[in-house]
Amino acid sequence: MELKNKNLKEIYQSLQKDTLKLSAVELKRKYSSKNGILTKAFSEISKIVQKERAEYGKEANKLKIYLGEILQSKNSEQDSYSTKEKIDPTAPFDVNIKKDNRDISLNTKGSKHPLTTEIEKWAEIFKGMGFNVLESRQLDDDYHMFESLNFPVGHPARDMYDTFWTEEGFVLPAHTSTMQNRAIKLFDKFPIAVVLPGRCFRNEATDASHEHTFHQIEGIYIDENVSLGNMVATIKEFLQKYLETELEVKIQPSFFPFTEPDCEFVISCPFCKKAGCSTCGHSGWIELMGCGMIHPNVLKQAGINPDKYSGFAWGFGVDRLTMIKLGINDIRYLRDNNLNFLRQF
Ligand SMILES: [Zn+2]
Repeated sequence: MELKNKNLKEIYQSLQKDTLKLSAVELKRKYSSKNGILTKAFSEISKIVQKERAEYGKEANKLKIYLGEILQSKNSEQDSYSTKEKIDPTAPFDVNIKKDNRDISLNTKGSKHPLTTEIEKWAEIFKGMGFNVLESRQLDDDYHMFESLNFPVGHPARDMYDTFWTEEGFVLPAHTSTMQNRAIKLFDKFPIAVVLPGRCFRNEATDASHEHTFHQIEGIYIDENVSLGNMVATIKEFLQKYLETELEVKIQPSFFPFTEPDCEFVISCPFCKKAGCSTCGHSGWIELMGCGMIHPNVLKQAGINPDKYSGFAWGFGVDRLTMIKLGINDIRYLRDNNLNFLRQF
């Protein structure tokens, strides 16, 4: 800002420095309150020689507008999700509500998100069945996303997983299977039994049953003489414990590059006992997850001899099973962070 008047120039320079240090309230007090520096500068216009008055008035006005802009940006900064105020996710109020309007008298104690609660329940069930638990990554590389899972470069099945890439060539995992190779190497004593909960990402338009961000829980079990029968029994056992009811189960063919054979795991509807209801789309059955025997190439990539060892794997949608269990009909609720929704759990 070009200012001719020496006094106004000094005010401008001090305002520039203060902008960095002072809050909107403090700036207002110092510059535009009754005794503020800028208010005084306006009242001193009468002391300015006649021929310079108009110019002085213009310059003082420029400063006033400048101050106004600073105050406005300071205020909107405060209104937005400012990192100056440290966020406490367990705080007993909605952090999106301005400080003065927060009602902390209500019964608004912080609680775990329903997805967290359910994942923890499952981890406990799987631990009881002898599985280790390892959380998956939220950023991975091409090798773990594809190559280690029997998707060679140029394999058309890569297109099934439309996900997000960073400029550096890292990938937001489209499934928790990205962790299979690591888990096998990490838990290298047989039987290798690991469940891998984690967040996944797909380039999807969202609707009541699709989200760009969701959770899966992967499971792997590898030993000598492991069969498809072991897989069905293991998954059935888990689901019956979690859903607290007897289930009929069946597997039907599907396709994944990293299993052979590839299956879809289907359960009898736990709500209507196959009579048909809205949860099961009136079919009596619910397709719950992809699963199958781990492909020999995947075992080889992790240093396991597929002639001696075999194993099974599954991956199911945490959100979907949570929705079934808790009776939630729109997946988007799980990420909206709407407190009216979350307080129900
Ligand atoms: Zn049903």
